[in-house]
Amino acid sequence: MKTRQEYIDSLRRLNLEVYMFGERLTNIVDHPVVRPSMNAVAATYELASGEIMTATSHLSGERINRFTHIHQSTDDLVRKSKMERLMGAYTGTCFQRCAGMDALNTLSVITYDIDQKYGTRYYQRFLKYLRYVQDEDLVCDAAMTDAKGDRRLRPAQQDDPDMYTHVVKEVPDGIIVRGAKLHQTGALNSHEIIVVPTRAMREEDKDYAISFAIPSDTKGVIYIYGRQPSDTRKLEGGTYDVGNLHYGGHECLMVFDDVFVPWERVFMYKEHEFAVDLVEKFASYHRQSYACKSGMGDVLIGATQTIAEYNGIADAPHVKDKIVEMNHLNETIFCCSVACAHEGSRQSSGTYYVNPLMANITKLHVTRVPYELARMAQEIAGGIVVTIPSEKDLRDPKIGRWVDKYMKGVSGVSSEDRMRVVRLIESLTLGAGAVCYLPESMHGAGSPQAQRIMIQRMVNLKAKQTAALRLCGVEQA
Ligand code: SF4
Ligand code: FE
Repeated sequence: MKTRQEYIDSLRRLNLEVYMFGERLTNIVDHPVVRPSMNAVAATYELASGEIMTATSHLSGERINRFTHIHQSTDDLVRKSKMERLMGAYTGTCFQRCAGMDALNTLSVITYDIDQKYGTRYYQRFLKYLRYVQDEDLVCDAAMTDAKGDRRLRPAQQDDPDMYTHVVKEVPDGIIVRGAKLHQTGALNSHEIIVVPTRAMREEDKDYAISFAIPSDTKGVIYIYGRQPSDTRKLEGGTYDVGNLHYGGHECLMVFDDVFVPWERVFMYKEHEFAVDLVEKFASYHRQSYACKSGMGDVLIGATQTIAEYNGIADAPHVKDKIVEMNHLNETIFCCSVACAHEGSRQSSGTYYVNPLMANITKLHVTRVPYELARMAQEIAGGIVVTIPSEKDLRDPKIGRWVDKYMKGVSGVSSEDRMRVVRLIESLTLGAGAVCYLPESMHGAGSPQAQRIMIQRMVNLKAKQTAALRLCGVEQA
């Protein structure tokens, strides 16, 4: 396994084409806006020891980072949920490495299934690639969401054929692909990009039914950095106005400008009827992964309890009640994630898969709970979340004393400590950190309506009606 430092050094060797604020970036690793997100991924290397964060590879028998592991049991799936909570609480942000793990596991199921139907050799190809990822301990970025254009139209019906990523040409050694993937979490911190389809496909969409992996610095891949609230605070110098001093997340718009993919890295090619299964499996694995948000919830609850103490209101009955409520809600996220893992099952290839109904329940729950926690945190912290002066004003030789004097809460706690906790709550509920905590809870791993559709499809309503009617004596046909 790579050390934290080896991971950082490996990123320096990449030659990515990245743009931010209209300029091409040269040194990405040390860029102050990007660096916190890189630190969060680096933490997945830093903490890689023990039963939760590492596993034994079923290919090599070696100890590997769990983020590159293929689940061999429901115990593995449960450990995955625990790892995500642990990492969420350690970084207080999105650590960006789960979607890649979820894509690897999905492909370990789907490539096998395609081979069973068509006699293709995708699975062996995939296993060779997986071995490389595990041996080199790589970060894989899963690229799923296409631009989609007019949402009413299918891929092949769009005015602009590039609204969904597609193959434009077959060459002897591979394929040329064009299109874009949006909301690419952690793209700049990744060694590999794993592309998968974003929706069900029909026969006429088969040029869009493709899956492949490429090194992140492949020629023709262009990254355009996504803005976040308060992102430029990282450029201001100072220390604590960013809230989270160490970690952050990022997203990119990723463009494929006629990118070559060799055949040995193609894992699905026009088998359009498997796209829906791939999408649903990936979505379910990733919906389980949202245990990460219970880890971030741990941080927000910790900050909220602390600010209640610093404000002198921690003993107020309504505050105590709210802290209990925050814990109750937060634990239910983790309960759901562990439950879908525990109820997982073995697939034909040997990979273990979560219970998809429960995974969708997990994620739908996550689209609500963090917003409720954020509301209670803001209520308890008070209006200071959006009104306190900057760190520079606190340090100013002339006016700093006024800031220090009037930002004071209970005695024994410095104004600066109180302001630091406020900034952390601000970041988690309004600033750059809120992107990872709130909109990501809403839209990451699919927006709520996607989970509702899956729940509607999977839930056995008939059985529930039968149970009810038997008890009240209504005769059933
Ligand atoms: Fe992992 Fe959560 Fe970030 Fe998704 S949102 S990559 S599950 S930390
Ligand atoms: Fe996500």
